[in-house]
This record gives sequence, structure tokens and C-alpha cells, in this order.
Amino acid sequence: MTITSDPSGLIREELLGLEGYQSGVPWQRIIDELGLVEADVVKLDSNENPYGPAPLVRDRLAAAPLHLYPDMDQHAVRRALAAYIGVAAENIVGGNGSDELIDLLMRLFCAPGDEVITAPPTFAMYEIYARLQGLTVVEAPRRPADWALDLAALEAAITPRTKMIVLAAPNNPTGNAISRSDLDHLLSVGPVVVIDEAYAEFADEQFAPLAAHHPNLVVLRTFSKWGGLAGVRAGYLVADHKVVDRLLVMKSPFNMSLTAQIAIVASLEQRDWLDANAARIRDERERLFTVLAETRLLQPWPSQGNFLLCRVPGSDGRTARDALRRHGVFTRHFATSELSDCLRITVGRPEDSDRLLAALSELKADWS
Ligand code: PMP
Repeated sequence: MTITSDPSGLIREELLGLEGYQSGVPWQRIIDELGLVEADVVKLDSNENPYGPAPLVRDRLAAAPLHLYPDMDQHAVRRALAAYIGVAAENIVGGNGSDELIDLLMRLFCAPGDEVITAPPTFAMYEIYARLQGLTVVEAPRRPADWALDLAALEAAITPRTKMIVLAAPNNPTGNAISRSDLDHLLSVGPVVVIDEAYAEFADEQFAPLAAHHPNLVVLRTFSKWGGLAGVRAGYLVADHKVVDRLLVMKSPFNMSLTAQIAIVASLEQRDWLDANAARIRDERERLFTVLAETRLLQPWPSQGNFLLCRVPGSDGRTARDALRRHGVFTRHFATSELSDCLRITVGRPEDSDRLLAALSELKADWS
């Protein structure tokens, strides 16, 4: 074998062309590289929670024994999460963010060559993890008018190789929910149904408790949004205890850090504080939706998440995103054809919306 200085020939060919996840602009880069100061920035590009974690989280982390390994079986945190969801601890497993759990689920249920069905536009990590695992992604696109699921297309996409249907509810970036009847129907057709409830605490309906009683339902959750803990990486899932058993065996022993385990337990002890902020964000979402629609600055779709997907009248989304950035307002643009004239805007505090609205009013004159 000839050894060359270029390792490309050694890397799995299908991964050479894989495009990675495109995140919002990290906070540190905004400050260090773009030279902006905190007071100038309105960060509405990553669906983070501007109210941050429950105060008890900071107290507990300050006293945390960081020199010790975390509990690899996650006993205390699984018990606390089980009480929150209303299931048994045997139905819960924690992850290094819910991202990690998407990857673990695909490795648990699917072998290379198997198929995973998604309903785009949706969260990019489903496709990225599927491709990493050598799976084929079969798309059943949502209906563009209101982004509703196309149930007939989802069902038609099922083949003998289909192992999993992955759907976010509410969906990122479109914001719409899934109805209980659609979920029941999908559960009856056979494959594993993964419902990603990253935004559940901002929505009207939640499905996580059902996962303890439906062998082919798995529900993903995270503390990145409601819990204000995106930087800590704290996710979990709810599933049949047999699925959880296998995940506990597969996962890296210390996948859920000590800080994440402590932060979740503390958050659930101050749940009322988090719920009050989620209520504020939901109220602000409705106010921002109404103002945007009435002023026609943007055309928002109704949302059950902590964000609004909006069409930008008179401009393409990328131009609008860049122009808003120059006003210190960070929003998200997706480089796909169906979303090219859209922005996804996180719902922040009322003053964040006001900054956004002021920037949009100034910029609008140039767009139309
Ligand atoms: N699922 C969805 C639908 C998301 O939007 C996100 C984050 N943007 C995640 C999962 C990832 O969450 P976490 O921070 O827990 O990895």
C-alpha cells in the first residue's frame, strides 16, 4: 500500500461531500471578531432563550464537584425528568443535547442502506446524522402554504427498508405543530416515529408522556430552549424501557456531563420560573406576529415555537439577514430554494422585538 500525504483516499467516500450543520453566529465570534459590544447585539438567530437558566442552576453549578465523573446511569436526573413528564425513570435517557440522541437513535434502529423519512423543510441534523450512518433519507415535503405534513406523501414514502420517520413538533423552522390524529395515524403504519419536541414548552400540545405507552414512539426533548441551557448541552428522550435499556448500553459512558445533570435537576426545582418566562415568550411571539403582519414589514407564519418564520417582501432572505446584521440584529437565513426569501427570527424580549422592528422599518425603504 502506498502512503500519500493526502488522507482523502482513506476517508469514507460518501462523507467527503457531506456539508456540516450551519449554526447561527456564535456569541464569542460576535464579540471577538465582529467587534460588537453586548448592548449593540440582538441575537435572534439560534432560538436561544434570552431569560437564561433558572437562578438555582448558577448556585448549584458554583458548588458542583467538577473534579468528579458524572453518574453514567443518570439516576437523579432521570428520576427528576420522569416526574416532570409523568413517566417512569426507565423511560428516560439523557444526552449531550438532543442532537446526540438523534444520532444514537439512528444507530440503534437503522443499518447502512436503511431508509429514514423526513418532512422538509426541517431541522438539518436529521439528514446529517442519517448520512453519517450510511442511511438513505427519503423526503416527504410539507405543503408550502401552511407547512402542514403531507400524510399521503409520508405514507407513500414507506418501503420495506424504512426504519424511522423523524418529525419535529413544533417544526423548526416552520413553527407548526402536529395534530394528535396525524401522530396516531403515523404510529399505526409501523416504523419508529421520532417526534422532536425541542420547543414543546412553547406549544399547546405535548406528546412526550405517550412515548412510555407506544413501543414505536420516541420523543426528544431539550433544555436548550425552555431551560435556557443551550450552552450546557442538556437533552433527553422518552421511550419504551427496552429502547432506553439499549441506549444506556450504546451511549458513551459519560455522555451527559455533571453540569448538565445538575443543571436539569435544579431547573426542574424552579420550574415555575422557567414556565413564567416561556409564557412571556409566547405572549411576545403573538405580539410580534401581529405587529409584523399589520405593518407588513414581514409576512410571518403562525408558530408554536419560540421563533417565527417570515417571508421577506421585496428582498431575498440573505440580503435581508445581512442588512439586519449591520443594525446589530442577528436572524437566520436558510439556503434552500423553498426558504430563500425567508428569515427565521427567534422571539426574544419585548425590547429585542422593538430593535428588530426599528431596523426593519429603516431597511424596508431600500427593499421595496
Ligand atoms: N431539534 C430541533 C428541532 C432543534 O431546533 C434543535 C436546536 N436548534 C435541536 C433539536 C437541538 O437541540 P440541542 O441543543 O438539545 O442539541
